[in-house]
Amino acid sequence: MKVFKFGGASVKDALGVKNVAKVLNLQKFENGVIVVSAMGKTTNALEAVVEAYFNGSDYLSGLSKIEDFHYQIVRDLDLEDIAEAKGIFSVFNDIQSFLERNKSPNYNFVYDQIVSCGEILSSKILSCYLNKNDIANSWLDARDYIKTDDSYRDANVDWQRTEENIIALKPHKRYVTQGFIGSDANHFSVTLGREGSDYSAAIFAYALEVSQMVIWKDVPGVMTGDPRVFDNVKLLSNISYEEAIEMAYYGASVIHPKTLQPLKQKHIPLYVKSFTEPTAEGTMVGISDKNQKEESFILKKNQVLMKISTRDFSFIAEEHISLIFGLLYKYRMKVSLMQNSAISLAVCMEDKFDNYKKIIEDLECKFKIDCQKDISLYTIRNADMEKIDDFYEDKDILLEQISQKTIQIVTR
Ligand code: ADP
Ligand code: ASP
Ligand code: MG
Repeated sequence: MKVFKFGGASVKDALGVKNVAKVLNLQKFENGVIVVSAMGKTTNALEAVVEAYFNGSDYLSGLSKIEDFHYQIVRDLDLEDIAEAKGIFSVFNDIQSFLERNKSPNYNFVYDQIVSCGEILSSKILSCYLNKNDIANSWLDARDYIKTDDSYRDANVDWQRTEENIIALKPHKRYVTQGFIGSDANHFSVTLGREGSDYSAAIFAYALEVSQMVIWKDVPGVMTGDPRVFDNVKLLSNISYEEAIEMAYYGASVIHPKTLQPLKQKHIPLYVKSFTEPTAEGTMVGISDKNQKEESFILKKNQVLMKISTRDFSFIAEEHISLIFGLLYKYRMKVSLMQNSAISLAVCMEDKFDNYKKIIEDLECKFKIDCQKDISLYTIRNADMEKIDDFYEDKDILLEQISQKTIQIVTR
């Protein structure tokens, strides 16, 4: 069996959906799981609906634009009758009646009930299109398979239950399912964190112990930098799980950082390939004893830099650090870099849940806080020290950290 994952960019319109069928035929995808993300920018659009709902502004017009967008794709694929018969568009009535009845003030809970619908729609449309075009498949609701806790918007997988559910799938069939979503013990929908469809694919791959997993992207594979950000990048044809997990951790968004761990555990090779050139080689991520030497560049935007200093000139010692990290954990802030001196600790982090004001309030009684938002973190792996000066040019550097293989620079 294999697992193929198609992201939002690969199914952004009807041509994209047709291209998925082409890729499956070309690759002779006979059995395994096809994991699909929401179409195009649907997740952002659904996020905006939730935001409007909580602000008390008009959320219905946003919802109806999302419906029109999907309806157009269904029409372009000539699936109107099937979509009607399968009740695909009842998803929109469900969203509307959920929001009308909802009494929960929990933003993250409501977010997951609504935003998860993007993947339900895309997977239903893809499954119908493939069935109509001789690629027989069964549609699976990933929420019946991927079980998690109730940390809405960033749920943690219950591996034992999830694995039990997935191994019950039949080995000689094709399935179409959703990335990004699962359900908690009460069967409420959860999401696994933005861009989490790669991770969903890895969960299926792990449980089914597949022979390979392929994520189909709008780039030729993993490159030495994001081609949208850096010039003169080149394709990395073969990298180790270790190098890939480091690159993803530092922010190379072509692979979701949680994807590699389950694959590495079962030695499942991961291919990153282009959906526009499906026969090109792409990148293979797997076991490799090759000493990775290629220099690569990574940019993580929208970071928060917080400098925490003691007020009484006492050392930033274990007790302080444990208090600070306890709060970072409580507010679900993800640290990407830290550096300490005798009386201060600097942390560069991601504040996905917009909690920075709350943590400052909690810390200010004990510490002096200096906080900057919207800053960037550059990471250079395997840096070529002779040429590095060019990189520093024109950069307003707030913090720098150099280790054996990695240089990190925080800039405004
Ligand atoms: P998906 O369609 O699966 O959601 P993503 O948009 O998440 O795909 O990932 C593909 C994008 O990742 C590319 O368009 C590219 O801009 C970005 N990217 C970031 N770092 C790299 C890298 N090192 N190599 C290739 N692409 C990268
Ligand atoms: N649709 C989700 C998102 O845009 C998950 C994914 O695409 O991986 O974040
Ligand atoms: Mg994505």
